[in-house]
Amino acid sequence: MRWISALIVFFFVLTTALAQPSLKNVERITISGTEYVRIKDWAPAAGLTVSWIKRDEQLLMTNRWCKIELKVKSIMSRFNGLDVRLSLPVISRGGGIYISRIDLDNTLHPLLFPPKNAANKKINVICIDPGHGGKDTGKIDKLHHEKRYTLLLAEEIAQLLKQHGLKVIFTRSRDETLGLPERTAIANRHGADLFLSLHFNAASSRSVRGAEIYAMTPAGVESSNSGPGKSGTGNYTGNQNNEKNMLLAYNVQRAMLRGTGLEDRGIKRARFEVLRSAKMPAVLIEGGFMSNPDEARKIYDPAFHKKLAKSIVDGVLAYRNIVDGNAAR
Ligand SMILES: [Zn+2]
Repeated sequence: MRWISALIVFFFVLTTALAQPSLKNVERITISGTEYVRIKDWAPAAGLTVSWIKRDEQLLMTNRWCKIELKVKSIMSRFNGLDVRLSLPVISRGGGIYISRIDLDNTLHPLLFPPKNAANKKINVICIDPGHGGKDTGKIDKLHHEKRYTLLLAEEIAQLLKQHGLKVIFTRSRDETLGLPERTAIANRHGADLFLSLHFNAASSRSVRGAEIYAMTPAGVESSNSGPGKSGTGNYTGNQNNEKNMLLAYNVQRAMLRGTGLEDRGIKRARFEVLRSAKMPAVLIEGGFMSNPDEARKIYDPAFHKKLAKSIVDGVLAYRNIVDGNAAR
């Protein structure tokens, strides 16, 4: 009998550990139509301990495996050290600190309580989208065109994914012009399970550097890089996978930073065409800046390409392990 009760306790712990917290007894307020949740009530329900890093300014929430840092009046947050942008600032009201329901549902909950795939919906086909192509060169640095390096990176990633038994389709496999809607249409037509759009960055300042990754902006809020009222707030096909988009972005960004040593420019939100119309979890990866001399040298170096490709694949496999396997996160 003892092992049976031990087993029951084990499954109880397993299921409660993965269940999203009930917000029944959590204080909630609505400001201009947006729901906010009191962190002091939500955190214990989510199994987190809360403390101040700096009183009234910076909060720390922890459990056995994660550490979340939030700033009052800011969209900046850190999840296990990674820069994760919230959609709305954390706010202070009447002595309480609140986080938006949109950020709980689309940013923190997917990482704390990862979604799972059904047994018959396991990840099998990955669509790789090498950014730009043909007449569209992408970023230009002297003789270097972004379109060439996104394709080279795509080929490296494909080789590795195949070694792990995954099927790969490309939106383009040569230097050809391809519209944005056609890219996701290819992924949708082939019933791909994941969509990875590959890009390299550029900025007017040569000192800007690092890797960033974009997941579809949740409905009702602005994207990370747009001013108020600029990006719209619509609900698109890509919003069907809000939770998995975030989980995929987190795992790929984490692996990319670990594997390449690139600086962390954050997990951000955008309504890029390729993210808007993807029917499967999708991310857009910016693997460094061609406008930064140091990173440009790396981007043009085949050895770095291999390293970057391996780290992106590590991230995809970590994600697969969570949604298809038994790993809790
Ligand atoms: Zn690009």
